[in-house]
Amino acid sequence: MKTIIIGGGIAGLTTAIALEQVGFETAVYEASPQLGVAGAGIWMATNAMQVFHRLGLAEEVNAQGVSLDRIEVADHKMKSIQATEQLLFVEAFGYSVTSILRSRLRDILVSHYGKQIHCGKKLQKVEADEKGVQAFFEDGTSTTGDILIGADGIHSAVRQQLVPSARIRYAGQTCWRGIAPISLQAPLEKACVETWGKDYRFGLSVISDTEVYWFAVAKAPEGQRDEGNRKAKLTKMYADFGDPIPAIIAATPETSIIRNDISDLKPIPKWYQGRICLIGDAAHATTPNMGQGGGQAVEDAWFLSQILKEESQPELAFKRFQDKRRKKVDQVVRTSWQIGKIAHLPFGQGLRNFLLRKTPKALAEKQMLALYNIDY
Ligand SMILES: Cc1cc2nc3c(=O)[nH]c(=O)nc-3n(C[C@H](O)[C@H](O)[C@H](O)COP(=O)(O)OP(=O)(O)OC[C@H]3O[C@@H](n4cnc5c(N)ncnc54)[C@H](O)[C@@H]3O)c2cc1C
Repeated sequence: MKTIIIGGGIAGLTTAIALEQVGFETAVYEASPQLGVAGAGIWMATNAMQVFHRLGLAEEVNAQGVSLDRIEVADHKMKSIQATEQLLFVEAFGYSVTSILRSRLRDILVSHYGKQIHCGKKLQKVEADEKGVQAFFEDGTSTTGDILIGADGIHSAVRQQLVPSARIRYAGQTCWRGIAPISLQAPLEKACVETWGKDYRFGLSVISDTEVYWFAVAKAPEGQRDEGNRKAKLTKMYADFGDPIPAIIAATPETSIIRNDISDLKPIPKWYQGRICLIGDAAHATTPNMGQGGGQAVEDAWFLSQILKEESQPELAFKRFQDKRRKKVDQVVRTSWQIGKIAHLPFGQGLRNFLLRKTPKALAEKQMLALYNIDY
């Protein structure tokens, strides 16, 4: 089956690899002139790592990233509030969470795909009938196929056509991200830590022996821009946070700091129509508070490829895909949104941290086991 994939992000590339492995002919069309990737680092959680294992990518992802042994929430002085040891998940599923530079992950996906990515192809519109599907690009070219997968992210043009009423929700928070060229020592060299201060959050993890990926989150009006030097602003915001946070900001080059508002997609009723199906952020973008947007995109790739292998009627396959994925994805979107709200509760840091400390560890672990389980 000839498959047009719109978008060369995590969802599009992983789906292309997975579909090629089950015998489909795929072509990936990416809007950017080159496969650039913004966003510093990313945590690929245990569910994503299991899919990468099934696709033969996991060892390389681990070799080029850092497999973490602890995930921790701490207060702004780096005092632990809640920690989850990853050994439990390694024993259950074979993998922990891997922290990796986004561009390294992209390069691994591109090299395993092995085919040319058609860059500079921004989708304008799609037409489909009972015989096939045709994609039209802004450069005036077009292509035909049997099915089309919309993996074109939160602002998806494919979704805009399928579900014009879809709504992106601003979470009320903005996020700066960067890479600091420094090394961290034990106990941080294999941990990811998210610190919750009164007004701000800061997360960090090592992505190689000499690089630390970090993010900083604060409430802000939608679309607000930084005036002047970002590093100077962040240095001030995080001045009273515990070591090594000020040192990480100090070591980061100003030019490498990026900023994005945090948004998600209000769940849409249907991810497919006829020969067209949405996946990844195009179907169910989530806020990043659980580090699961990319993980869910990778799970989509696995489920869709396995279902399409078994079911030759595209619309039936897409229905099965949505039926299989919907519950988990909706829960991630909902829970992640709530975590973002709790992390910035207006009525006091102390109460918020107390509530988190009181969350039974066994309950948190049970929820993680369910989240990481891949039921296919
Ligand atoms: C601050 C932050 C931190 C995050 N941290 C994590 C994390 O640690 N772990 C995790 O799992 N997830 C994380 N995420 C979420 C993760 O980045 C996304 O869920 C993931 O990138 C979604 O992949 P995707 O391929 O669906 O979409 P995208 O990565 O957005 O890729 C879509 C691609 O489609 C292309 N495109 C767009 N429009 C068109 C068009 N019209 N025609 C052709 N191509 C088009 C784009 O150029 C892009 O290359 C984070 C997100 C944010 C904002």
